[in-house]
Amino acid sequence: MEERQASRVVSPEPQPDDTELERSLRPRTLRDYVGQTRIKQQLEIYIRAALERGDPLDHVLLYGPPGLGKTTLAHVISHELGVGIRVTSGPAIERPGDMVAILTNLEDREVLFIDEIHRLNRIAGEALYPAMEDFLYDWVAGKGPSARTYRIKLPRFTLVGATTRAGLIASPLRDRFGITVRLEYYTPEELACIIRRSAGILNIDIDEEGVSEISRRSRGTPRVANRLLKRLRDFAQVRANGVITGEVAREGLELLEIDDIGLDVTDREMLKALILKYGGGPVGIDALAASISEEPETVEDVYEPYLLQIGFLRRTPRGRMATPLAYAHMNVDLPEESQRRLV
Ligand code: ADP
Repeated sequence: MEERQASRVVSPEPQPDDTELERSLRPRTLRDYVGQTRIKQQLEIYIRAALERGDPLDHVLLYGPPGLGKTTLAHVISHELGVGIRVTSGPAIERPGDMVAILTNLEDREVLFIDEIHRLNRIAGEALYPAMEDFLYDWVAGKGPSARTYRIKLPRFTLVGATTRAGLIASPLRDRFGITVRLEYYTPEELACIIRRSAGILNIDIDEEGVSEISRRSRGTPRVANRLLKRLRDFAQVRANGVITGEVAREGLELLEIDDIGLDVTDREMLKALILKYGGGPVGIDALAASISEEPETVEDVYEPYLLQIGFLRRTPRGRMATPLAYAHMNVDLPEESQRRLV
């Protein structure tokens, strides 16, 4: 199942050969960070205020679907604060000792970035409460009646947590973030900016029509835009004279079986099952996931958010439903009965 996800060109999740590419394309400053205008304006004020006071920035929770720039923003925040960043992730912190090692090794005002913070185990999560609130860590030595608690004073720091699912974070942890930021999907114009910027950095020849073909199919997601750009560079080099024109982009994307609005084979398979096998729904997430041999969590995190965003899917208490837009895209006539149910 993981293989299907790993080989998807339009997956918003990172893939093995993304790492180097992403590092080179990651904007470092708020000014270079495209889009998310309101978030940038707010962060700029908070950062400047913290700098003027000589305090660490309040803890920041970033949430939103994968590939929208949470990790990038965490790095940008540390850069703008002029401090270092330590990067870890929820599942990597297994034992209390892991957490204490990370926290005590921070420098004053540094950023600690915890990706997938919703996957932090309960004990590690609870250890963060006093750390976030008072920069203290309660270290319990021994077990049972002879156990003793030592209070360790920690350096002041800013926790930046990232998650695709804010709802899965225990509310006491969520409440300890002073700043909560929800990243939004990018507009085609913003994606066009990102594509032009990336093409410049990677020395890729692309014309405006090429840019617009890619931005339209990038599912509002910078990671997808950058990946499509890279794939089309190869295509242009081998099949054309190295320039990504509109026509080259269209041909290349057709070869990758990515349709007009950026849906790939798996998305279409899922919509097809929902419409033809389940009569448009409502159908439970488990059945929907089984139709494309995926885990329900993957469907919720990776496949579904964009389909919800573009209004192809609707979440109801009884399950997922296909909307008239999805029927139209899949070229299936909307049954009369569904017409009544869906309006
Ligand atoms: P997330 O952590 O949300 O999964 P990332 O921060 O890793 O996403 O972003 C994926 C890639 O997309 C980055 O390497 C970067 O090149 C690009 N990117 C993300 N957000 C922006 C942005 N606002 N402006 C320019 N590029 C961006």
